[in-house]
Amino acid sequence: MNPRILVAIVVAVIGIAPQIAPPFYVTLLNYIGLYSLVALGLVLLTGVAGQTSFGQAAFVGLGAYTTAVLTTQYGFSPWITLPIALGITLVIGYVLGIITLSMGGHYLPLATIAWGISLFFLMGTIESFGGFTGLTGVPPVSIFGFELLKESHFYYFIWLVVLAALWCVANLLDSRPGRAIRALKQGSTMIEAFGVHPGRMKTAVFVIAALLACISGWLYAHLQRFVNPTPFGINQGIEYLFMAVVGGATSVWGAVLGATLITLLKTWLQDLLPQIIGEAGQFEIIVFGILLVVMLQYARDGLLPYLQHFVPQAKRALPAAADRLQHRTMPVADSPVLDVNTARKTFGGLVAVNDVSFNVNAREVVGLIGPNGAGKSTCFNLISGALDATSGSIKFMGQELIGQTASTISKLGLARTFQHVKLVATMTVVENVALGAYLRGTKGILASALKFNREDEAAALAEAMRQLERVGLAAHAHDAASSLPLGKQRIVEIARALASDPILLLLDEPAAGLRFAEKEQLAKLIRGLKDEGMTVLLVEHDMDFVMGLVDRLVVLNFGQKLAQGLPEAVQADPAVREAYLGA
Ligand code: ADP
Ligand code: MG
Repeated sequence: MNPRILVAIVVAVIGIAPQIAPPFYVTLLNYIGLYSLVALGLVLLTGVAGQTSFGQAAFVGLGAYTTAVLTTQYGFSPWITLPIALGITLVIGYVLGIITLSMGGHYLPLATIAWGISLFFLMGTIESFGGFTGLTGVPPVSIFGFELLKESHFYYFIWLVVLAALWCVANLLDSRPGRAIRALKQGSTMIEAFGVHPGRMKTAVFVIAALLACISGWLYAHLQRFVNPTPFGINQGIEYLFMAVVGGATSVWGAVLGATLITLLKTWLQDLLPQIIGEAGQFEIIVFGILLVVMLQYARDGLLPYLQHFVPQAKRALPAAADRLQHRTMPVADSPVLDVNTARKTFGGLVAVNDVSFNVNAREVVGLIGPNGAGKSTCFNLISGALDATSGSIKFMGQELIGQTASTISKLGLARTFQHVKLVATMTVVENVALGAYLRGTKGILASALKFNREDEAAALAEAMRQLERVGLAAHAHDAASSLPLGKQRIVEIARALASDPILLLLDEPAAGLRFAEKEQLAKLIRGLKDEGMTVLLVEHDMDFVMGLVDRLVVLNFGQKLAQGLPEAVQADPAVREAYLGA
């Protein structure tokens, strides 16, 4: 069955539900819709981007209170308060995000708790906000003069918003910025190497989640026509997080699933538990706690992946004929590309790279070899901007790289692979490769969410496919990246680097984990790239592999350059033999 049919069925059920469900359940479904919006933000923020927020209920409160105060006390129309509420949320979300996300670690969850608690008390204390008793008389929303007074009418309004939000977030996740967001959990080194600013991306995601919560609050105020601080406290913030965790982050539908399950479960438990225990109390909290522990043990990704097991996943067809992306003009053969001059990197007392100098010219394949711990990867990290050099100079196409960010360096035409493969396990091979073309696309979050990115997207995916064909992995385009053996994953990394249209390709131990035949293929691929005008600097361990392949060798030992020159000469050098080959 096509997943689209499943979506159509779900939409149809949502459409007829208020016609057949008893009024109590219509009310419940309204709440599920409101909760789904908040949970959707958290699926994106927590599930996909790996950032935790306990403060979403406060953003819901911000939406609800903004409209309640402005409509009841200043006579604003609800439709005007919506953009105002979104504007306030945007500013607060941005400021909170900028301050806390740059600090990393546990600052975001802590800051969101603090934010949640302070807003809660602020809403309760301010006299003109009605204190803890709240504000009544919030006007209904009217659409083309039709007032949404009945719950079953408001139901359609809520679910229309929910479906629109699901569509937008699903579009976003399946796009250029979306792939960057999905790679955030991976840490910043890899995405920075392809031009993504992880801090900016995280802040953007935090703001999106806050905006979705705000919309939910605005809807809530006009559904209830009354607000007080209770539903916006930190308890509710935790419950929202719980919904996202239970539903799961593999798909936006996890938000709806989580909101539905938790809401139904809570309702039933609130009825059932006091009867069983014979006393009134919020016993459902205990059950939720136990459930959460069980979930974290057995279903970290939430329940949706289990359900998706029963739905065959359609292989996505890639968009056909697409405009080719622009290509850089490659430098002429033998012109200087990379000039490393007395580059130095110390880690505390350890000098990992000790005043190393070497250069790489256009269309050369240069091998950087040396025993384990010689400083090869550190050297790569200095060149690619993943690490800041302690001193020295590294020029690429005449420009100084030291002091530049990885992202800027990537823009100049330098791409790399990683010794420890850094693919996004949850994305397909072709999506991983498309991430390499990040800087060659232009469409941002808003355009992607609204699907104004079709051409950009088609071009990126077509480019990714071309690179996969180039490295011989086109047949695996739609496999999950994690399903490939390590050797092939390294090749996917090469395709991803190629997708950025580099002048200089840095390969960190590309042949590690490859079988003999695969190494032959890799060598053929690298020779082919050279013939096409690529300049390659590669770190390698396998001497035989390097000997037949590179034009020149640079040997590092204990952070220092030991030798350089033609492969045969280097191999014959007694110092090299002693240090590297064990004589
Ligand atoms: P190679 O890639 O040649 O095997 P590396 O460049 O990874 O070597 O490491 C060179 C030296 O620097 C090693 O002694 C390693 O332990 C040290 N080193 C590398 N990265 C770090 C780091 N981030 N912090 C501290 N020491 C490091
Ligand atoms: Mg290394």
